[in-house]
Amino acid sequence: YLIDDPKYSFLKDLGLEKKNVGVFNGKWNANGQVIQSISPANGKVIAEVQGASASDYEACAAAAQDAWHSWADLPAPARGEIVRQIGDALREKLQPLGQLVSLEMGKILPEAVGEVVEYIHVCDLALGLSRSLPGTVFPSERPGHMLIEKWNPLGAIGIITAFNFPVAVFGWNSAIAMICGDTSVWKPSDTTPLVAVAVTKIVESVLKRNDIPGAVAALCVGGKDIGQQLVQDPRMKLVSFTGSTAVGQQVGVEVQKRFGRHLLELGGNNAIVVNEDANVDLLVSAALFACAGTAGQRCTTTRRMFIHKKLYKEVVSRLAKSFAGVVSKIGDPLEANSLIGPLHTAAAVEAYKKTVAEALKQGGKIEFGGKVIEREGYFVEPTIITGLAHDSPLVKTECFAPIVYCIEIPDLDTGIKYNNEVDQGLSSSLFTENMGNVFKWIGPHGSDCGIVNVNIPTNGAEVGGAFGGEKATGGGRECGSDAWKAYMRRSTVTINCSGAIKLAQNIQFGD
Ligand code: NAD
Repeated sequence: YLIDDPKYSFLKDLGLEKKNVGVFNGKWNANGQVIQSISPANGKVIAEVQGASASDYEACAAAAQDAWHSWADLPAPARGEIVRQIGDALREKLQPLGQLVSLEMGKILPEAVGEVVEYIHVCDLALGLSRSLPGTVFPSERPGHMLIEKWNPLGAIGIITAFNFPVAVFGWNSAIAMICGDTSVWKPSDTTPLVAVAVTKIVESVLKRNDIPGAVAALCVGGKDIGQQLVQDPRMKLVSFTGSTAVGQQVGVEVQKRFGRHLLELGGNNAIVVNEDANVDLLVSAALFACAGTAGQRCTTTRRMFIHKKLYKEVVSRLAKSFAGVVSKIGDPLEANSLIGPLHTAAAVEAYKKTVAEALKQGGKIEFGGKVIEREGYFVEPTIITGLAHDSPLVKTECFAPIVYCIEIPDLDTGIKYNNEVDQGLSSSLFTENMGNVFKWIGPHGSDCGIVNVNIPTNGAEVGGAFGGEKATGGGRECGSDAWKAYMRRSTVTINCSGAIKLAQNIQFGD
């Protein structure tokens, strides 16, 4: 167990042990399967977490529902104060928690720390929101009447998260849901259970010292079975699901069957369109991180590049050169000079190998990479593939690995068409120096994605804007802007102070 190695003493700083309990409903108690948490950098076991049984989930859901009554009665600014303290508690644990993310998920330390910073930023955003949650007053057509929009909390909600952002995605949901007055049951990925336990311990410490029931933020570590139980549970007024499109589609249907509410943040197949007037220096430095960073395991990773024919050769060769420059910096994500870490699991390495083999079979050419790196852990080379058709099934599929397909385009309109022709609609970028092109790109006939960038890569969202995508990405929005609305229910309230009954549309009944 890596936890016994003094090199990983940060695990103990986070209150983790060799055997951990993965269920929290105000008390820590688990009776389900024991999960071994594996470090993708070396395939070794970090520590164990006992997950939830069906009855453990039941206890969590009941406790979260119970805790909701007192939590919803706290004024929103008081809930904001709790979230502020959670932000401060995260600041105190920023380094050890970042190190744990790096060890268990596999992303390099600066990105892992950045992910915790993202949660802290969402706490700041939520704190402000807790004092400014709006509610509109509309003019009534009836004299002596008032038309008000009143927002109330939903109740208990379920949060199901993916492995690749084991802290931030929970934070986006939890901080906003908390100030909105909801309680939650979190079902994290079963391959990042230690991060989930560590984060919940931090939140628990704040709730405890404020005498607030722990089940305001319940945790239920488990796999598909626990996820399904949560999805089917009518007590979960909203299911916020982040993960693959295939699973998200099932989740959406199941939640809809019971007329629950869902918020889906699913797969992407993000493109950069390089127009003939692009600044190539800017593009190449942006594309390196967008395609290869996080070993291609961001939902916003660039997987397709549509390059104007005038720049195609130059861009492909400069990109291959810059990929070659980082190969020596692929390594242990906790080490200071690593720029790219491993894939998350052995299964992800198999999916990478299969995709590369299939691309070759279909006439694709590997311009760079294509190989698994011979060392312990799950490391692969970042890969550039050319020669495939823009609409081939492989190009239209999200392989969650550092593979980018480069495709030549004759003009911007073709680039926009190719960008939009996939099922997914998460993120997109255009590189151009021309304002007219920018307006075309962000307009009704431009990119159909939820994230539409110009001269920056497809990844790297800030918390102020609403995050999410269209089509098979699920349509959900989280984090900033008005994404809070998903966590509340809206009542349209008409109050009559006129002393007489008057109907809208001036309807009069006969005497
Ligand atoms: P996944 O779909 O395999 O798992 C996601 C979560 O769903 C996990 O917690 C898993 O245990 C749970 N789950 C699995 N089957 C379930 C079921 N039938 N019912 C309920 N829950 C179930 O995804 P992953 O491999 O962890 O993550 C990678 C995927 O997530 C990629 O497709 C990526 O693009 C996507 N993602 C999207 C966003 C976004 O914001 N759009 C962010 C991060 C990741």
